[in-house]
Amino acid sequence: MLTLDTIREAPKALLHDHLDGGLRPRTVIDLASEFGYDGLPTTDPDDLAAWFTRGADRKSLELYLETFQHTVGVLQDRDAIVRVAAECAEDLAADGVVYAEVRYAPELSTERGLSLDEVVEANLEGFRIGMERAAAAGTPIVMKVLVTAMRQAARSVEVAECAVRWRDAGVVGFDVAGPEKGYPPTRYLDAFEYIRRENFHITIHAGESFGLPSIWEALQFAGGERLGHGVRIVDDITVRPDGSVELGRLAAFVRDRRVPLEMCPTSNVHTGAAASIEKHPFDLLRRLRYRVTVNTDNRLMSNVSLSGEFAALDAAFGIGLGEMEWLTINAMKSAFAAFDERLRVINEVVKPGYAHLRARESRVVVG
Ligand SMILES: [Zn+2]
Repeated sequence: MLTLDTIREAPKALLHDHLDGGLRPRTVIDLASEFGYDGLPTTDPDDLAAWFTRGADRKSLELYLETFQHTVGVLQDRDAIVRVAAECAEDLAADGVVYAEVRYAPELSTERGLSLDEVVEANLEGFRIGMERAAAAGTPIVMKVLVTAMRQAARSVEVAECAVRWRDAGVVGFDVAGPEKGYPPTRYLDAFEYIRRENFHITIHAGESFGLPSIWEALQFAGGERLGHGVRIVDDITVRPDGSVELGRLAAFVRDRRVPLEMCPTSNVHTGAAASIEKHPFDLLRRLRYRVTVNTDNRLMSNVSLSGEFAALDAAFGIGLGEMEWLTINAMKSAFAAFDERLRVINEVVKPGYAHLRARESRVVVG
């Protein structure tokens, strides 16, 4: 089994992580007092961290999402967003993440008068600062922004236009998130069509709490290039008692077209999308060689890190360094950054990093 130190040291790429789901508990408390937010359930950092995890682990996506009112509550000022974004970059870099796309819905931070553009600008500025600090600490990281539109709101076109305006400054794609049931991807066709006409990128939360129709719409109507979670694709896969496997049309399409699945194991257990890590569809999907990637979703709410998720998968399925590298390269191939930038990370960071770790693991130690 891999040690947590080795996993941390291994270069990792992250495609699915929410800015408002990854705040440090201490920072939530600081910002609440600095900006006059009085809704927190407690002002003790440990208690608050435990409160978030308890709130998240209720086997329902809708209940899981309730915990975000407090993180969003303290993200209503430019300085707060800059600080949270900078810390996000630093925390990921310290965990050995070398490339990350972190998403946020700017419409959530407009309660006190910030515009969508001001929120995205603050987010990018925080990442710039965080990348600088991470490089100075010897753990360089590339941070990109995905701009999310919330399913319950009706601002998806406006949000999509905002995403495209910032594409040359570090925004690499557009996403929709929020409760899946009752909000199918086809409700946001105007926004998706706009993004496609602009030759920009789309990932969609689909197939998490809701099944195949949501995945089908995300791919075939909305033009999604990646699936946020996508775990319910297993509903279209039949495993017979003799171990043989039959893929339905949609499951075959997803595999044939190498549609990346942004899997978030612990988060899926918390929302009830998977019964446990051991029973997570990750195992079947990686064995069938889907384009699987490993992600955190919400580091605060689910009390996880990317290294922790890899450790859990290694404990459950013995993935080892070889498969960790495969999963990381899957993520880099699926990233929305420009091809030359992705290739640089793969060839100059990921591959040498794993080669170094493998050489060290196989070294013969003489007495
Ligand atoms: Zn998510």
